[in-house]
Amino acid sequence: MIKKDNFKIKKTYLEKIKLLKKYNESYYNKSDPIVEDVIYDDLKNEILGLEKKYLFLSSEESPSKSVGFKPSKNFKKVKHKIPMLSLNNAFNKEDLLNFEKKILNFLSLNNNDSIEYSAEPKIDGISASLFYKNGKFIQGLSRGDGVEGEDITENLRTINDIPKTLKGKNIPTEIDIRGEVFIKNTDFKKLSEKFANPRNAASGSLRQKDPLKTKQIPLNFIAYTFGFSKNLNISNQFEFLKNLKNWGFKVNKFNRLIIGVDNLIQNHLKLEEIRKEINFDIDGIVYKINDFNLQKRLGFVANAPRWAIAHKFSSNKSISEILKIEIQIGRTGALTPVAKIKPINIGGVLVSNATLHNEDEIERKDIRIGDIVIVERAGDVIPRVVSVDFKKRDKNSKKFFFPKKCPCGFETIKEFNHITKKFDAVRRCPDRGFDCDRMAQEKLKHFVSKEALNIEGLGKKIVENFWNLKLIRYPHDIFKLDYNKISKLEGWGKLSAANLKYSIEKKKNISLSKFIYSIGIRHVGQENAKLLSKTLKKADNFFDLGNKNNFDELLNIDGIGQTQINSIKEFFSVQKNLFVLKKLKDNLNIISEKEISRNGVLKEKTFMFTGKLVGISRAEAKSLVEKNSGKIVSNVSKKLDFLIIGDKPTTRKVNEAKNLNIKIISQSELLRMLKIKDS
Ligand code: NAD
Repeated sequence: MIKKDNFKIKKTYLEKIKLLKKYNESYYNKSDPIVEDVIYDDLKNEILGLEKKYLFLSSEESPSKSVGFKPSKNFKKVKHKIPMLSLNNAFNKEDLLNFEKKILNFLSLNNNDSIEYSAEPKIDGISASLFYKNGKFIQGLSRGDGVEGEDITENLRTINDIPKTLKGKNIPTEIDIRGEVFIKNTDFKKLSEKFANPRNAASGSLRQKDPLKTKQIPLNFIAYTFGFSKNLNISNQFEFLKNLKNWGFKVNKFNRLIIGVDNLIQNHLKLEEIRKEINFDIDGIVYKINDFNLQKRLGFVANAPRWAIAHKFSSNKSISEILKIEIQIGRTGALTPVAKIKPINIGGVLVSNATLHNEDEIERKDIRIGDIVIVERAGDVIPRVVSVDFKKRDKNSKKFFFPKKCPCGFETIKEFNHITKKFDAVRRCPDRGFDCDRMAQEKLKHFVSKEALNIEGLGKKIVENFWNLKLIRYPHDIFKLDYNKISKLEGWGKLSAANLKYSIEKKKNISLSKFIYSIGIRHVGQENAKLLSKTLKKADNFFDLGNKNNFDELLNIDGIGQTQINSIKEFFSVQKNLFVLKKLKDNLNIISEKEISRNGVLKEKTFMFTGKLVGISRAEAKSLVEKNSGKIVSNVSKKLDFLIIGDKPTTRKVNEAKNLNIKIISQSELLRMLKIKDS
């Protein structure tokens, strides 16, 4: 029985190795990966996990024993005098402490002995080994499978960063200089149709059969280590890096000499923060024991040095399983599918929901419940499902059929877009009033949201709660809330109910533009609402739109198009909307649009905010700037005059502003410009 089980385990193991080999071939040899790196890494970890669990498993082709892929037949094969290996990875402090502990143990050193590391950004390119004899570049090889590389001398000669003759002092009689060939991100943009990422672009360009083709591509080279050497009189890595520079190589300007794991972590955090501003991809930092003597004593494991480790940056992609697909209904009726996934940590954030965008996206990617998928979380954007690992799909999995009905019971529709002459990818509930419960609830959330009425203490969860308790159904219901009942609800009391009442009363005075925005007409966002209110001026003119049925005059407004007009027309054609409008008119004091001063103190000046402001919402601060004739812009460019920084500003924006000599001011300084006292 055990034998039979072992046979099965071995079979699975070998199948996985075969699949990994296929991925390696496409990636290393054809520079054209067939799966994303996360899928590759997942498979590699599965293989390593099996080897750890079942000690009888082993293969020369296992990723624990081999690197890269055998050299391509397009080039002459040449054996490396000293193998070119891979690196072991660390992902967190614990991994680094383990790494250091193992080194101290191996060298029989004390726990208090401090180890000096050369910390070098790990450039995500491909490595090359350049043989120099008496200072002359003789031959250049790719890594290949680590033992044998491809002779790509002529291609390497086309790279300007590679000196053909070394200069300066201290040049060894023979040396293999090793470093990374890479392409700058700005140059990659021109090649992005041909290659999946900059690393593949560098590899594909470097390994062209015709060196003239390589010459056309702006490749770069940064040197960082050596293989074989004769008469090298240098005793440590940092000293070696200095010599590389003197000999004419480019070295990384972010290389640092660091002692202690805590300092390594500090440096890692700093570099990860500015990573996006560097014009080439780095995927971590390589730590190398600085002392060559210690390096020699530590030696190598199967496919990596024992004296170095790559501390990876957190990836913005990970793998998870789809547990459920939920359909969310937005305020404008759009049905958005959301995948409930097994919670995973992506870049330090626990993710359990990922958007699937729309019906077409699910169909195109054939996404199903139970699938193993890649999930991406980039910046502040909502996490999304990127693709399915079909190799892991359960045989019995069933296609996902997108519901054709909204939970409110209406048949959903796909609208025809007259501009693109195509049906929309998004499916919608056709309700245009307040009949669909789900839409009505979302409209309520919108009505009280920050950019609309901005009612403190009435967040999304509370709206849902009040809705379920049938305390609210229409926007105007919030003006006749039963506070006595609310004060008795769980989590509420007399004081909190009174506070809510106060917040709501306070917001009964509302500008016309905010009012138009808050009622949530589709295609009428904050900007369009401002344009409409500027033209209509008085609230009555807005309410009259329905009576006069004279929507076409709105077409004269710069910025308002047929799409918005049709949507406004449709809004006014629905009785329920007219009913809500009337009730709101009775409850609110809608302030006519005052002529916004065109001669305010901020005249002809542009502003942008970053970071959290104190005691004032972003929306209010923006409107303050606009009221004083200032203009808000959404990105840092030469056109920006002032970047206003609050708490925890985005470093990138601040640095961009510094580079462009843009004035960076605090919230208080802005208020001073407006002659408003800081509280
Ligand atoms: P690696 O690229 O992660 O690390 C080793 C390499 O780091 C070295 O060979 C060297 O080229 C480089 N390096 C950069 N800066 C350095 C420095 N300062 N000092 C020393 N070395 C430095 O390891 P690997 O085994 O070559 O490749 C594994 C990576 O390739 C993984 O990220 C994996 O996901 C990806 N991969 C993906 C696929 C796929 O199909 N998607 C297939 C194979 C590999």
